[in-house]
Amino acid sequence: MHERFAQLAGEHISYDRTLAPLDGFSEILAKLAGEGLKGANVTVPFKEDAFHWVHELSHRAHQAGAVNTLIKTADGHWLGDNTDGVGLVADLCRLGFDPRDKTLLVLGAGGATRGILGPILDRGPKSITVANRTPAKALSLADVFGIEAAEFEQLHGRRFDIVINATSASLSGQLPALPSDVIASTGLAYDLAYGPRGTTFTRWAASQGCPKTADGLGMLVAQGAESYYLWRGVRPDWQKVLGEMEAQR
Ligand code: NDP
Repeated sequence: MHERFAQLAGEHISYDRTLAPLDGFSEILAKLAGEGLKGANVTVPFKEDAFHWVHELSHRAHQAGAVNTLIKTADGHWLGDNTDGVGLVADLCRLGFDPRDKTLLVLGAGGATRGILGPILDRGPKSITVANRTPAKALSLADVFGIEAAEFEQLHGRRFDIVINATSASLSGQLPALPSDVIASTGLAYDLAYGPRGTTFTRWAASQGCPKTADGLGMLVAQGAESYYLWRGVRPDWQKVLGEMEAQR
């Protein structure tokens, strides 16, 4: 994806994957930094390690408590940022569901939820409600971000413009315990997870009559484009790249 961004921008970059051992994140990064690394993306389960590894944090990384983008600054320091939330907001806007003035329900209270709440709130939604299998975690996030927490069964009869599944349930073919009347009446059901034919959640939402569903491939590409911008100062045409990736799945 990043090499395609570079190609479209007429630039040359080298972007590779490295698998770090669970207890070896800092050692790997120190080695890569010594070899001239200029920037990196960090993914599960190292986003919190990266948060502690960097010298400086952006506001959104601080809010998220996690770093997915490392940027080497001109003075040789490492800046940590988090582009997941802006990636999601960009994709929601692409789908015609700008969160501004909308009612949103976010399912899940893990790292991804923490990363997306700040950028969604920055957009000025009417309300955000968060619900999680372990209610205490939703309550704690609701406290931090000044939003509402609810338990799944309390959601019967509620209607939201957008429901975002930020649980990892789809990865194991499971569904969060959301009452079906909620998903049937929502405008957009969005799953952060993605797959070749959507996800367990998006397929379920469609089967319940939800008029529009989307998986997280668009978010993935948009967050990558934001990272590219942070490294190179160029905004890639991420929707073109998303279209190419959609055509291949
Ligand atoms: P975490 O492990 O931090 O959190 C997982 C969350 O899912 C918890 O709230 C957990 O609830 C909940 N959960 C897990 N299984 C179930 C289940 N069977 N039923 C109900 N709730 C469940 O994961 P992340 O927050 O990092 O990631 C969440 C999802 O977001 C993943 O699918 C990941 O792939 C996706 N993601 C996509 C991105 C993209 O660019 N498209 C970017 C980042 C993440 P509990 O607290 O009760 O355990």
